Amino acid sequence: MKRVVVLGSTGSIGKQTLNIIRNNPTIFSVVGLSCRKNIDLLKRQMNEFGVRFGCCSLFPDEQNRIFNNELLLLKSIDFDIVVAGAGGIDSLEAVIYALEQNKRVCVANKELLVCAGSLLMKLSNGNLIPVDSEHSAVFQCLENRMDVESITLTCSGGALRNFDINKLWSATKSDVLKHPTWKMGDKITVDCATMANKAFEVIEANRLFGFQRKDINVLLHKESLVHGLITFCDKSSLALISQPTMELPIAYALSYPDRVCFDSDFSLVGKTLTFENPDYSRYPIFEFITENYQNEEFCCMSAGVDEASVNLFLDGVIRYGELHTIIEKSLSKVSNSAITDAKTAREIYNEGIQRVLQIRKKV
Ligand code: MG
Repeated sequence: MKRVVVLGSTGSIGKQTLNIIRNNPTIFSVVGLSCRKNIDLLKRQMNEFGVRFGCCSLFPDEQNRIFNNELLLLKSIDFDIVVAGAGGIDSLEAVIYALEQNKRVCVANKELLVCAGSLLMKLSNGNLIPVDSEHSAVFQCLENRMDVESITLTCSGGALRNFDINKLWSATKSDVLKHPTWKMGDKITVDCATMANKAFEVIEANRLFGFQRKDINVLLHKESLVHGLITFCDKSSLALISQPTMELPIAYALSYPDRVCFDSDFSLVGKTLTFENPDYSRYPIFEFITENYQNEEFCCMSAGVDEASVNLFLDGVIRYGELHTIIEKSLSKVSNSAITDAKTAREIYNEGIQRVLQIRKKV
């Protein structure tokens, strides 16, 4: 029985993780749960799974053993696996602690790898398993294979892939949140529309697998069935195909190197697979961020900048077209230092958030 801690248990990844555990009670048990603010759902989840310790950063409840700090939660329990599903970098210290204890960390949250990927990989010792669907696919294809020349991350192009390019600037929140194939949280759905998400995934792939930008391809694949591929030096490729549900990469990361069996009538019969190069003129944020993929400080700050900018958009404060200008302005002057500890990552991430708010004030 593997004892699992789910960080961000009330969010999209957390709920899907709990669903896998609910369906596989002989393989996994839950020993810790955390969330930012949804204390009611957290308590219901703790009840359902018989969990004694939790964490809610905004509304802790010490009497019911609900701390305000994930690190404290991890230090209070015995566990085998941590699923890092909370957004932002709130879980960074907890994840570092888990890796230092030589425990498996299933990383669903890309900010952690974008902000502190090199640091986490140094501590990983093979215990850091990607959950992001594209990276899970590449991870599954790579499996110690030799002579791999490049990897490919697929992308759906987001909700605005067919939107009139002349009207993109004023696309509304409801236009942006209509993701064609994946059901995810609001923030990441906006990031799919701008392809900031894919830019972060390029950084993530570099940190996880060590490929350089020129060897990390991005292909627009509208069907979202092929999640990632690797290409060998003879130019043949190996791909992972599955239905687009995050439960599969989550389950794989939990059970690796084994697999969790799923009941599904998913079939390839009648399906068409198409691949195109993205029209990058629709996605200026992607190019701006990926150009700087080696600058750890830039990458870390870009995650904070993106979070703050997307929140302004979701709150109706800025228009869709302003996302690009605010992100570029906020990141116009960034030095280039390595991220060597959680505290530095947090400071730089927060500076990104502050820069966006300051630029917004001046407008
Ligand atoms: Mg992804």
